[in-house]
This record gives sequence, structure tokens and C-alpha cells, in this order.
Amino acid sequence: MDSAGSLETSLLLGPEDVPPVLEKNAAGRSPFLLTSDHYGRLLPKKLGDLGLPDSERARHIAWDVGIAGVAEALADRLDAHLVAQRYSRLVIDCNRPPGAASSIPVLSEATAIPGNEGLSQDDAALRRREIFDPYHRRIDEIIDARAHDARPTVLLSLHSFTPVYAGVARPWHIGTLYHRDTQLPPLMLSALRAEGDLVVGDNEPYAVSDITDYTIPVHGEARGLVNTGIEIRQDLIADQSGQRQWAERLARILREIEATLFGEVRV
Ligand SMILES: [Zn+2]
Repeated sequence: MDSAGSLETSLLLGPEDVPPVLEKNAAGRSPFLLTSDHYGRLLPKKLGDLGLPDSERARHIAWDVGIAGVAEALADRLDAHLVAQRYSRLVIDCNRPPGAASSIPVLSEATAIPGNEGLSQDDAALRRREIFDPYHRRIDEIIDARAHDARPTVLLSLHSFTPVYAGVARPWHIGTLYHRDTQLPPLMLSALRAEGDLVVGDNEPYAVSDITDYTIPVHGEARGLVNTGIEIRQDLIADQSGQRQWAERLARILREIEATLFGEVRV
């Protein structure tokens, strides 16, 4: 895909690099639009390894471990459109306002990111132009097209969290993350709690804000969409079996929520 920005010369992504945006089930009929800001951990060839060993580039600071498998399986089960971003959050974090310190971090948890130190404004702008912007432009286009076709859109932003952060263990299996939406988060919370076997976080381990987030404030709240974020603990979705089980569980819950929101079940 070389649509966005094709008139400008690419200075970051080269012929060996894949496009940042990945889509699945673009014709899916579900009202849920799934996004995955931290789906991948690729690095553009030009950036090398950002000065990090493999072990650092494989852990949660680089991406949301396990969420890709959940997101794809959930898109299948719900017949939902998934739009995801393939490059590492260490290149540019697609869920941070550009310009924020955590957008292109020089430190993540306790790991220094040498390839992000002393970055020029031009190089930062390039990462935004070639990775961040195409992803968010595409989400915008999808929401526009659905609105044009009078199709409802419920935004579900999918994430995963590390079981231990900065030495502190997190007890939750899953959490909902939200700010201004008052419809979907309570439905999600009560459905997850009704499962009976889950420790459910209410805006834990993170809450959404305009300063620390981008996808929910910009695509969900500013456009008036019913929305929530979901965070699943990474050790539960580390392998295919866990990813499948969580996708099945979430698909069942979300179909019930869809019926509550829209008063009918799609056939
Ligand atoms: Zn995430």
C-alpha cells in the first residue's frame, strides 16, 4: 500500500519494509471496529536495531505481547474489521500524542533506547509521517466510510500489559480502559465480572487520558463513538491456545453487548 504520502519521497521505510498498516476483514459486518496500536514490533531497516539486543526488542516495551493473535482471532469470530500497526512502539508510539515524551521514548521502563537519543525534529517528523500518520489516517477513513454508509461503529482498542512493571506485580487478568464513554465500559465491566473467574481492572492497570493516549480520545471520543479500551495480561495470551481462548471469550461477551446496544443480534 503506497497510497498515503505517495507523492512524497519515502525517507524512512524502504523497499524491504512492509507498510505500517495491516487490515483484516475489511468487509466485516460487525459494528465493532478493532484497533491495535501496538500490534507489531518491526523496525524499519534504516533504524537497525535501535541499539537494543533481541531480548529487549521482544518484550513488552517494544509491543503488546500476544495481542496480535487475539486481535486476529477476535476479528474472525466477530466478523469485525481490524486495523493494526506493524512497527514497534519504540519507533513511534501510535497511542501517544506526537510530541509527547513517550511518543518516541528514550527510556522505556528501565531500558534506555539508544536509537532514540538525540533524535532531530526532522527524524521525529519522518517517523510520524511514515508510520503514525498513515495508521491514524486509515482509521479516520474507515470511520468516515462506515458513517457514510450509515453503519454503526463501536471502537474497541485492544492492548496487552506486562504482568510485572517496574518490579510491581499486577493482579488483574483483564482491564477496561476508558475516559468519557459512559455506555460501553460499564457493560464490559459487568460482563467480565460476571464470568466469575476473572480479576477485572476498572481503568487498571491504566486509565485513558488526552495526554497519555491517542486512539480513544481522537477516534472514539472526538468522533462521538461508543468506545472502550481493553488490556489483557500478557502471560495469559503468550501462546496460540491462550490467544484463542481469550478471543472466544471476548467474542461471546461482545456479541451479548452488541445485542444490548442495538437491541438485536445479527444473523
Ligand atoms: Zn498497548
